[in-house]
Amino acid sequence: MNVIDERFLTDWSGAPHGMPCEVHRPSTTEEVAAIVRRCQKDNLRITVQGGMTGLAGGAVPSDGDVVINLGRMNRIEEIDVLEGVMQVQAGATLQQVQEAAAAQGWMFGVDLGARGSCTVGGNAATNAGGTRVIRYGTMRDSVLGVEAVLADGCVITSLTRLVKNSTGLDPRFLFIGTEGTLGIITRLTLRLHPPMGEVATAWCTADRFEALPALLRSLKSRLGSALCAFEFMSDRFVRLASQLCEQDPPVGGEAGWHVLIEAAGPLGQSMAGPLEAALSDALEKEEIMDCALAASLAHRDAFWRLRESIPEVLSHLKPVAALDIGMPWSETASYIAQVDATLRRRVPSAEHLFLGHLGDNNLHIISGPVDEQQLHEVEEIAYDALRGRHGTVSAEHGVGRLKKPFLSVSRHPSEIDLMRRLKQALDPQQLLNAGRILDQEEGDTPCNAEQSSPP
Ligand code: FAD
Repeated sequence: MNVIDERFLTDWSGAPHGMPCEVHRPSTTEEVAAIVRRCQKDNLRITVQGGMTGLAGGAVPSDGDVVINLGRMNRIEEIDVLEGVMQVQAGATLQQVQEAAAAQGWMFGVDLGARGSCTVGGNAATNAGGTRVIRYGTMRDSVLGVEAVLADGCVITSLTRLVKNSTGLDPRFLFIGTEGTLGIITRLTLRLHPPMGEVATAWCTADRFEALPALLRSLKSRLGSALCAFEFMSDRFVRLASQLCEQDPPVGGEAGWHVLIEAAGPLGQSMAGPLEAALSDALEKEEIMDCALAASLAHRDAFWRLRESIPEVLSHLKPVAALDIGMPWSETASYIAQVDATLRRRVPSAEHLFLGHLGDNNLHIISGPVDEQQLHEVEEIAYDALRGRHGTVSAEHGVGRLKKPFLSVSRHPSEIDLMRRLKQALDPQQLLNAGRILDQEEGDTPCNAEQSSPP
């Protein structure tokens, strides 16, 4: 019997895995295409993998799958230093891309805590967000072109470097955010940005969530596009993070909510003054309770250590429910109040933590430890309360296997029908990442039908 390395079986979601029949680690697009063609001929299902940091179970294989892991396709192929465009293989890590851009005097706009392991192919496939969406947008806004292998092994090459190209269908929309269900992304052209100037970082506290949208609104109008992070955390999250990181929060005292704020102008221009002035005004108007500005790089790192302590928090509370909800600002305060109260009443044994990126409508809920029944209860409570609020069950992690039963909370039936039709047209044998986002149509069962059912 083949022994498969554990790292090709599980991602960060904890979704149960099956046992693949083969694991491939190709280094070129042609190798990917050849593997896919053989799978099509033998009617074998394929699981596509990047860095395995996903939180929706999309890269977790089922029994009998052929795994194609892109980790070896990690070459930075070219950087156009004049215009700020990078061509890269999809298995390069986000950090590799960030460092390669910085070495040439440019910056890559997407950033997230898993940067050292996640791949840019995985980032594109999930349309990853992260901590700088408020300024640079999601991965979709940073991808200019893609190359992808379809389920029949055909290679689609659309590695354009142009910002504008109005010549018919844009293949990016097929592959970005579709989680490997319509094609395997093998190469990308990425848009780079001029590096940010000195970053000004602040931590502030508020007693009520309602204060945060008002603060964000006023920071946006005062700092404009210099605002690059607005990360909110519930007090219970910050207390646990402090305990696990053995580090006090930058601002003491009682507070309901904490916010990490960053602003950066162009090189040579400090935003510390404007940020301080904006926060002083907010203090005077009693919109916030207290605030602290990072006086050094070490302070800034300490602020971020608390915000990025998610792996420690997840390990401490495991098994956890980690939700990735999105909704308009106007709904967030009442949503949190309703869901927090219900969770505490119905799942009292677990800790329930809230944090997110308010500027891009994203709210994360971490509940744990939870057994399987409690996990479903948390999902039911959180997704039920989302109905009628114009929200989404996934703002950035993707649907994968875990959120598939709740797709209809966020999507109109006509949107789901369109997704199904595209899948049917491009992958009629349902081989590529089968069982992610949508269930296959009845009666369309490939030979190695899924055995480990999604939770
Ligand atoms: P994988 O986990 O390997 O795969 C994810 C999905 O993409 C799967 O469906 C897989 O089949 C598909 N896929 C992977 N590569 C390809 C490819 N080349 N072609 C087609 N399909 C492919 N996410 C955010 O958006 N924002 C955050 O702030 C954030 N923070 C995180 C912090 C931590 C500590 C952790 C562990 C995760 C975090 N994530 C975050 C989730 C995760 O890092 C992202 O979803 C990331 O984009 C996944 O990339 P990956 O290469 O690890 O993909």
